[in-house]
Amino acid sequence: MSGYGVTLRDVFSARQRIASIVKQTPLVQSSVLTKHLGVPVYLKLENLQETGAFKIRGASNRFSTLTATEKAQGVITVSSGNHGRAVAHVAKRLGIPAVVCMSERVPINKVEGIKRYGAEVVISGRDYDEAEEMASQLQVERGLTRIDAFDDRDVIAGQGTIGLELLEDLPDLETVLVPLSGGGLISGVALALKTVDPTIRVIGVSMDRGPVMAESLRVGRLVQMEEEPSLADALVGGIPLDNRYTFCMCQTYVDETVLVSEEEIARGVVFALEKHRLVVEGGGAVGIAALLSRKVSKLTGKVAIVVSGGNIDIPLLLQIVREYGEEAVPSGK
Ligand SMILES: *Cc1c(COP(=O)(O)O)cnc(C)c1O
Repeated sequence: MSGYGVTLRDVFSARQRIASIVKQTPLVQSSVLTKHLGVPVYLKLENLQETGAFKIRGASNRFSTLTATEKAQGVITVSSGNHGRAVAHVAKRLGIPAVVCMSERVPINKVEGIKRYGAEVVISGRDYDEAEEMASQLQVERGLTRIDAFDDRDVIAGQGTIGLELLEDLPDLETVLVPLSGGGLISGVALALKTVDPTIRVIGVSMDRGPVMAESLRVGRLVQMEEEPSLADALVGGIPLDNRYTFCMCQTYVDETVLVSEEEIARGVVFALEKHRLVVEGGGAVGIAALLSRKVSKLTGKVAIVVSGGNIDIPLLLQIVREYGEEAVPSGK
């Protein structure tokens, strides 16, 4: 099975290349979800990665393929979120100069977060698109190399290492739920799993507010949608129409997509905290949300949920717990 140029061999190579930077994350059984659904359910804890999300896998694999000249010149990316953190962190570890472009809209704590990892932060433009223009300009002016967040073969292969770890820990895995935005994560994971066993069911989960890839898969071509704010902020964002890999790979490998509401996402975040003592961000909790709300039918065997990240703003987390938590709020009964 070939992933449009990305192969299982690339995923194994990635695993070796990123081993010194990336953790093999734990896979834990959720006894509550197991009871709720009547099949064994496991959580793959990517929120426990050093930068708080799986993006460090793809980013560090992409760095490992840079030439000596590219390393000396430095890299550039546009992201205020988990990808920006991953790029800044890996660049610092490897002593490679990194520029992260962000728009004026990005909150100061996120800017500080990325600066702390040692990257040069360039704030420019009113929105993502304008920051993107700035990045293109700087890339040319300074001869930097772009590290794409999802539509890149090395990035996809890096994310695919999650699939290898899942198979090692759970060889009889039947179904996997993967958060879906640009599709780099699910493309890599699905490539690894389906190459080993094409009957493994791969389900992409997005928020119902602007689910660009899910909608694109439904209509059979890339669509553009209005961006809407969501608790799953890591999943918000469009897919450029010059997409090379992830749309085709999702068309080939993703068996179905499921959408979850803001309230369902909130309940997923609270569930992770109350039942597992885990801090999970909205985008990382969509798989839990989909199962809690029974949006996936015909589950027969072992299920794994990729819990993709934990970088939630703490005041927001507290607010959600106050609103939806069972333990924090007296039930009144
Ligand atoms: C980036 C991200 C995703 C989505 O990954 P894609 O490759 O864009 O589909 C999911 N969860 C978290 C926490 C992320 O940071």
